[in-house]
Amino acid sequence: MTKEENYLNILKESGAILDGHFLLTSGLHSATYVEKFKVLQFPLLCDKLCKGIAENFTSLSPNVVLGAATGGIIISHSVGRALSARSIFAERENNELVLRRGFGISAGERVVIVDDVVTTGGSLLELIDLVVKYGGHILGIGVLIDRSGGKIDFGFPFHSLITLDIPTFKPAECPQCKANIPLTARGRTGKA
Ligand SMILES: [Zn+2]
Repeated sequence: MTKEENYLNILKESGAILDGHFLLTSGLHSATYVEKFKVLQFPLLCDKLCKGIAENFTSLSPNVVLGAATGGIIISHSVGRALSARSIFAERENNELVLRRGFGISAGERVVIVDDVVTTGGSLLELIDLVVKYGGHILGIGVLIDRSGGKIDFGFPFHSLITLDIPTFKPAECPQCKANIPLTARGRTGKA
């Protein structure tokens, strides 16, 4: 079994990968949804996955790990533990990701950006902008699942434990809408 298959099994066994007809927060529809909190609710499984993310950055001596609320808080904390680095998170204020709670990034600090599931990459691009604004040095990006099928280029080293190529559809082009399958809204509080 490859490492990726091993990680995928952890997600499947915890029920984190669901089949149906889902409205993602990106506005797109999909027949598969990753309910990340089904696995994140188990701290030891979360640590096992996040250790896999951390391994890509250990030799780069990171100072700080940054994620975005909500799932990114947990990932950042767990990766930060594995790297013996500081762990901080950004939150939305007036629709913009900002650092609150006394968090900051000093100029030149070595930053690893993390997230749970990447669909469009929008939040990660915002986190990149945030680190640049503070003058931090971005070492790379680590995520649990890249469900864009590896199609996004962030301009920094990018590592995902699992790459899924799950088709997403605009509502007008969605085959499941055409088949009148009831739509379930998911991920209202986080990213899909
Ligand atoms: Zn649909």
